[in-house]
Amino acid sequence: MSELRELYQEVILDHNKNPRNFKKLDEHSHHANGHNPLCGDKLELFLEVEDDIIKEISFVGSGCAISTSSASLMTQFLKGKSIEDTKQYFEYFHDLVTGKQLSDDELEHLGKLAVFAGVQEFPARVKCASLSWHTLMNALDSTEQTAATE
Ligand code: ZN
Repeated sequence: MSELRELYQEVILDHNKNPRNFKKLDEHSHHANGHNPLCGDKLELFLEVEDDIIKEISFVGSGCAISTSSASLMTQFLKGKSIEDTKQYFEYFHDLVTGKQLSDDELEHLGKLAVFAGVQEFPARVKCASLSWHTLMNALDSTEQTAATE
């Protein structure tokens, strides 16, 4: 566990200092805003989805190191993934940060995101780590709703 904790701190520091995919997407098919009032984290997420595959994904915003690094890692991780897989990864990630036991297979699917298991020890930080994922789900849902009314 101490090895994971070290990796957790390393990854969070790195992605907070140098967030990946930190920009707006002028052309995007999905978009949502996320806010975690408990900590003050705010982010805006952009996705370009084509044929049910995430072609581009990016975010902007400001927040604590955990929310920023989680969003950065998430965008890096999800680029090129299908929407169906993405919804599954959301479930895995949610289980991971809320302290549910994941199988080795599920952990393997999460790759680098598994370092966020470290958040379990800090319950107040769970919302920081999962903000980008909840915003992602809202972004994916919002277009479906818009599409239904057209
Ligand atoms: Zn936060």
